[in-house]
Amino acid sequence: RPRPLVAGNWKMNGLRRDLGEIAAICAAVGAGDAGQAEIVICPPATLLMAAAPICKGSPVALGGQDCHIEASGPFTGEISAEMLKDAGAEFVILGHSERRLDHYEHDHLIQEKTKAAYRAGLSAIVCIGETRAEREAGEALPVIAAQLAGSLPGLSTSERLVIAYEPVWAIGTGLTPTLGEIAEMHRFIRLRLDQLLPQQGVKIRILYGGSVKPGNAAELMAVDGVDGALVGGASLTSADFMSIAAVY
Ligand code: 13P
Repeated sequence: RPRPLVAGNWKMNGLRRDLGEIAAICAAVGAGDAGQAEIVICPPATLLMAAAPICKGSPVALGGQDCHIEASGPFTGEISAEMLKDAGAEFVILGHSERRLDHYEHDHLIQEKTKAAYRAGLSAIVCIGETRAEREAGEALPVIAAQLAGSLPGLSTSERLVIAYEPVWAIGTGLTPTLGEIAEMHRFIRLRLDQLLPQQGVKIRILYGGSVKPGNAAELMAVDGVDGALVGGASLTSADFMSIAAVY
């Protein structure tokens, strides 16, 4: 079983005064409170440079939440993978549903962004997930299969790529699939990864995300095939986030 990974996605939350939460997470992880899990915090890009010295010397890694496909150039408002790396990130979340749906990001663009992350020396956490309508139409598996086939570069390795399965209808809603549904989906994703990425697919970590909270983390993380969590709301306070990470 691969080393579990628990990542916090702060989304568009966090001012300098919230850096204390990152410091508290670093202290707790340094004290062994996260057990076996690898820990990543993805604050807004504005906080990366201030968070980097806080995390330096601790086992906590930093990540961005999106990147552009180019390294630099006339792309107003964009941030490149190289800039994230330069600011202290080791990871970047790509293809989150809030990017796919709110910013019309499609699979091919996410594949290009993932290549950009690799080029810059970042690991990518590529998000996939079906909407409620897709699940109700019985389309969840084909939707996930298409997202995997379209979003992942062929040269992906288990060191550089992490998949996060986040059903869109479970994000920020307090709803989660049943444990059986999560197990089925993670089994399916593993099968497809194995076909798409020979040798590497079996080792790539598959996280679950969507309303992971201190109260449900233990049962969600115990599901067969779940290699960790991508946590939104509950990652904003160190106490909640650490009680999730402590499951490992
Ligand atoms: P919540 O944990 O707030 O449901 O968000 C999940 C998510 O989108 C993480 O990327």
